[in-house]
Amino acid sequence: MNFEADFTMTIGGKGVAGAGSFPVLNPANETVIAQAPDCSREQLDEAVAAARAAFPGWRATPIETRRALLNEIAGRIFAHIEPLRRLLTLEQGKPYADAEFEVGGTGMFVQGTATLNLPEIVNEDSAERKSITRHVPIGVVGAISPWNFPVILAFFKISPALLAGNTIVLKPSPFTPLTTLKIGELLRDLLPPGVLNIVSGGDALGPWITSHPGIDKVAFTGSTQTGRRVMESASSSLKRVTLELGGNDAAIVLPDVDVNKVAPELFWAAFRNNGQICIASKRMYIHKDVYEPLKDAIVDYARTVKVGDGTEQGTQIGPVQNKQQYARVLDLIADSKKNGHSFLLGGEASEGPGYFVPVTILDNPPEDSRIVREEQFGPILPLLKVDSIEEAVAKANASDYGLGGSVWSSDAEKALAIGELLETGNVWINETQHLSPLAAFAGHKQSGLGVENGEAGLLEYTNVQTITVKR
Ligand code: NAD
Repeated sequence: MNFEADFTMTIGGKGVAGAGSFPVLNPANETVIAQAPDCSREQLDEAVAAARAAFPGWRATPIETRRALLNEIAGRIFAHIEPLRRLLTLEQGKPYADAEFEVGGTGMFVQGTATLNLPEIVNEDSAERKSITRHVPIGVVGAISPWNFPVILAFFKISPALLAGNTIVLKPSPFTPLTTLKIGELLRDLLPPGVLNIVSGGDALGPWITSHPGIDKVAFTGSTQTGRRVMESASSSLKRVTLELGGNDAAIVLPDVDVNKVAPELFWAAFRNNGQICIASKRMYIHKDVYEPLKDAIVDYARTVKVGDGTEQGTQIGPVQNKQQYARVLDLIADSKKNGHSFLLGGEASEGPGYFVPVTILDNPPEDSRIVREEQFGPILPLLKVDSIEEAVAKANASDYGLGGSVWSSDAEKALAIGELLETGNVWINETQHLSPLAAFAGHKQSGLGVENGEAGLLEYTNVQTITVKR
């Protein structure tokens, strides 16, 4: 199998060329890596029909068999980490080590999800009747994934959907469809035809999926703005929806931290994957007693970090993933310049080719500035000085987003008590971004609706059914 050419969709267990095609660029040099298939509306209909035809058989397949197949999926991913990570770096831009972490992590998440179970509750077991509540699959899932972690976020949907007995039609982002398409090809002979369909296409394909009458549930990861459109579109047939959306996570730093220890950790909390993580630390509220030394330590550390082409040895941060996001990041930098914010580092776009933005750190911009209020989703971080931790908590919570947050202190108990005040779905103490296939991941407020991962995430792929038998 050639991992860098001949990209096809997976529809009904077969490789299918697109009705047309579209180019996929390498963000490190803006050259075309490959043409991806452009799914027509008729081809989407075929994929949905294949998923619907496969549903009765898959639903009737014992969960232990579905579990075993998920483990085989993980095995195939592990066996092809090398070519998959190379392809992921080419299309996404992230360094090889990060691409390997994502592909390997995907295998581990598939295995972890495979250990989950669907609970059954006995409501009554008396001489008159037996009543149980169980969870049954919903039907055909339409899944839509973004470009920042294209592989693992696709499997956050594929694994629970299949384990619960649903069939699925998945659409990767048009910016990063290639690795997902190749994984579809890798798995083609493993699953019954139609159980897992992967289609790729341009801007029209997402709305076709969310409004398709043959799709029963939409699982979406992407921006809050698009999430609203998805919900609106899904409402016509009351499709179930799970929305994992944007965030503006705050990190709160107490005055008792060990500055040299936490500086690199805080740096990576913000800049891992070039800041393109929904749960990246996007605002850093630092107590005034430690602000100056910590600011210096973060900037000193940032100067040692190598930004470059992800295929080159030693690169720690790659390019911004696509032209639109690059323009958005530059626009935020321009806004800070226009408003006279103080830059500690960065602030100038590199000469092309490639969507490179240097690590950019701002010194205490105003709370109402765009860089503090908006989700930057790129390599710019505002450091913010606070007089008290109460002030930090109030500012952290004064956001429409509620995805994650972190508290940093030498005293974990004290930090935990502060963390419990955060209005977010995920709270980390002295770390960020730790996720597990066994732990629920959800966004509060406009960061999402519903849950991914853990038993609660699995249940999102089921309908509740209560069965009562009169004796
Ligand atoms: P996006 O919303 O632009 O696109 C996400 C996906 O939706 C893509 O596949 C896109 O093609 C598709 N899409 C676009 N318009 C659509 C429409 N009208 N109907 C249906 N589908 C449509 O997001 P992005 O730029 O790819 O990703 C970045 C965003 O995703 C950030 O806001 C980030 O915080 C968020 N994100 C959230 C999580 C989470 O788990 N909460 C994880 C990763 C990323």
